[in-house]
Amino acid sequence: MSAPMEATPIPTSESKVPLAPAEPLSDQDWREEWLVPTVMISLAGRCGERRARRPGPDGWRRHLDNHGLIAIHEASHLVVAYAVGRHVNGAAIEVVDDLYDSYRGVAQNSQVALSDETPDHPTFEQFDKLERDFKTATNLAKLAVGHGWLRYLRTLWIRTDGILERHWLAMKMVAQELGATGTVRRARAQELLDRWMPVQGGSLFEAFAGLLNARVEVCDLAAAARWLSPPA
Ligand SMILES: [Zn+2]
Repeated sequence: MSAPMEATPIPTSESKVPLAPAEPLSDQDWREEWLVPTVMISLAGRCGERRARRPGPDGWRRHLDNHGLIAIHEASHLVVAYAVGRHVNGAAIEVVDDLYDSYRGVAQNSQVALSDETPDHPTFEQFDKLERDFKTATNLAKLAVGHGWLRYLRTLWIRTDGILERHWLAMKMVAQELGATGTVRRARAQELLDRWMPVQGGSLFEAFAGLLNARVEVCDLAAAARWLSPPA
């Protein structure tokens, strides 16, 4: 789940409905600056899961267990929140039922910068009161466009998926740490996202291969320049 934080007062737990910014916004601004990002963040969890389960170019579908999927789900919320300019406050996952291999997770973001006094990671205290991702997305889409809400959601789903595609490696890094530790705190989440979001490629291998190719091109250019330059 994605849990946006309230701007004021200082929240003691996840809030269900993010507050609109303090500055008055026009309808168009409000839609673009608040509603669209909020919908995209809500869609991001499922969107990330869907992307993770997509078969690779060789047709193999990776096996992902529920624990891996919940980490991907929450990490995707954080990546998209960061990409649309929100402040992230980390994420947490926990076991609900060992026997049935079931888990729950929460990721938190805020429109305003978070002070040191606010808790630096989300908890499950108010989990049952949180609105489900798709309900948030659907309600906001209906509010924005009325009848055309499904088409509107599809468009925003594609935008969200595009963000995840570009920042898939960052998503993986956050998901990996979340899966291993259960909680990624605010500072660590920001550190991971700052470090990995600028890196293109779906995996470390692709990222390094990209660097290697760039280097080869540079080498080739240097070689070409040597060939082309007149003898001394
Ligand atoms: Zn979610």
